[in-house]
Amino acid sequence: MDTESPAKPPLGDIDPEEMVGIDVGILKYAHDTDGTAVKSLDLSDERDRLEREQRKLSRKEYESNNWEKQRQTVAECHLDIKRKRRDFLHKLSNYYAREYELVAVENLNVKGMMESPRNSHNTASAAWNTFTNMLEYKCERKGAHFVEVDPNGTTKECAQCSVETPLWVREHACPACDFKGDRNANAAWNILSRGLTELGVGHSEGTPVETALPAGTTPVPAKCVVEAGSPVLSERGSASRAG
Ligand SMILES: [Zn+2]
Repeated sequence: MDTESPAKPPLGDIDPEEMVGIDVGILKYAHDTDGTAVKSLDLSDERDRLEREQRKLSRKEYESNNWEKQRQTVAECHLDIKRKRRDFLHKLSNYYAREYELVAVENLNVKGMMESPRNSHNTASAAWNTFTNMLEYKCERKGAHFVEVDPNGTTKECAQCSVETPLWVREHACPACDFKGDRNANAAWNILSRGLTELGVGHSEGTPVETALPAGTTPVPAKCVVEAGSPVLSERGSASRAG
């Protein structure tokens, strides 16, 4: 490293509004404690094209000039998908590093296979690792705190009273304190709260959980992130649409 990172703000001085916890899902790409949800990047057109070009390749005579040309086309398709995905992850991580002084995410290296279907797991977790690596260096470069937490049970634990709750399909509903909310939002709050504990920050009893969590969230299509360079859009503050 040839450049020195700027100093991070003292933990005690950080406004709760400058802190964020981010949950990752398979359907929604990211869901955070500010109610911003970013959908997975839709690369289906690109994948269709790749399949088409691969089919064409299989019909060419092996190692002929036409085969070689088509092989290059297929390679370009692969590269295009890779580039778009990376671009998306850069924009998403830029957004969080720029907007917040403290960012908490799950450390998915220790997460088992139990929470996602096998086939979608590898791609999703590879992308998530790329994302957290980007986020970590960007936070470091800007002088923001970055913390990775144990992901076990973040979706089951009640963000309000810590009781372990049954895993509902989409809604978190706590039998102990009657707290209800979006499952991913509940998880994001658990992630932030674990991050604060890990950093040794005691957070007040009046965590924003009570006020912020019950609000529904409108997912933001990944396209908006890619186009606008920020997933913030108009959802924030007006995220009250039910379900
Ligand atoms: Zn509860």
